[in-house]
Amino acid sequence: MSVTRPAGLAESVSLSGLSTLGVGGPARYYLRAGSAASAAAAAAWARAEGLPLLVLGGGSNLVVADEGFPGLVLHVLVRGVDVAGANGGVELTAGAGEPWDPLVARAVSEGWAGVECLSGIPGLVGATPMQNVGAYGQDVSETITRVRVLDLRTGEREELGREGCRFGYRDSRFKREDRGRYVILDVTYRLRPGGAPSVKYADLERQLAAQGIRTPTLADVRRAVIDVRRRKSMVIDPDDPNRRSVGSFFMNPVVPAGRAQQIEDALRAEGTLPAGERMPAFPAANGGTKLSAAWLIERTGLHRGYRRGNAGISTNHTLAIVNCGGATAQEVVALAREVRDRVRDRFGIALVPEPVFVGLEF
Ligand SMILES: Cc1cc2nc3c(=O)[nH]c(=O)nc-3n(C[C@H](O)[C@H](O)[C@H](O)COP(=O)(O)OP(=O)(O)OC[C@H]3O[C@@H](n4cnc5c(N)ncnc54)[C@H](O)[C@@H]3O)c2cc1C
Repeated sequence: MSVTRPAGLAESVSLSGLSTLGVGGPARYYLRAGSAASAAAAAAWARAEGLPLLVLGGGSNLVVADEGFPGLVLHVLVRGVDVAGANGGVELTAGAGEPWDPLVARAVSEGWAGVECLSGIPGLVGATPMQNVGAYGQDVSETITRVRVLDLRTGEREELGREGCRFGYRDSRFKREDRGRYVILDVTYRLRPGGAPSVKYADLERQLAAQGIRTPTLADVRRAVIDVRRRKSMVIDPDDPNRRSVGSFFMNPVVPAGRAQQIEDALRAEGTLPAGERMPAFPAANGGTKLSAAWLIERTGLHRGYRRGNAGISTNHTLAIVNCGGATAQEVVALAREVRDRVRDRFGIALVPEPVFVGLEF
């Protein structure tokens, strides 16, 4: 059956300019979808043509191959924000194409708690459920109540509740078992009008204390989060030489508590961990221990500012791999593999990357 070629379809569009890392070859086809109907029509066309489909948001969590993408890149730009009161809470529903940080700014300025620690994160609303976006002890699974999707298997629209999203640490069904199955159309977050801000992280506490703030408001927390992030090049600033990244390249590994202790003991025995200094370790789900990937990477001898060709480790954040200017996707991936392999060889820990790879094996 022939399906009409979508209006506005472009060909051979460079993806490097559409990703914050600034790498990646061309999309064979590219379409900006401003409505659920145009996204559905374009997806149906790609299926009929036998083309693979890549859904694109803000491009801040993607590493695209230098060869580009051989199918249709569907840029989901569905806009619109709707606010409804419900049982003392506020339900904020935003189109997948709404930029994330302005939505957080609005929630904070209205006095709605629940997303204030997620200030300064780039990207669009539609990607937030993908990896259960989180920072400073808060993540979107705490507030998401509904995700409206287009199921590419059936062509039908559906609603998923929080349980249906199967969220985990930087994880969800959208990123894992149902990768590529759904186009997210809009997301509903349930926020707490007049609620207290969340302050769970030492970095954030220190920043607020340094400003003499003892009882922070939502706006104080937003400002403090952005200040801390800026120091780590974790907000996109056109003047920052570390700006081309995907944020943290690796997730913090979770290991059995006994294994964490073994690593710490071994480091102490070999004299690399002085008495009185502890290895950063935090309780995680199911009795596990979350370690700091950045700390482990530094113990392998890799350091901020380390370069491999045109790719490097951010001078402000060990966990961020940056395109220092003119890097290829291959260079970025080669450096990321070096980091992964060094941590594996030194500690026996397999670092798991955070971004989504398109046309690349990691
Ligand atoms: C400087 C910097 C700091 C960052 N800090 C953080 C942080 O603190 N915490 C954090 O969790 N992340 C962080 N990130 C990663 C990134 O910003 C988030 O993961 C963000 O949610 C990605 O949004 P995006 O719109 O750019 O998604 P994209 O990069 O465009 O896409 C990411 C994935 O989501 C899929 N996708 C996108 N939109 C849709 C949709 N509508 N429907 C279906 N699938 C979709 C894509 O196919 C892809 O698989 C950071 C990135 C940068 C560059």
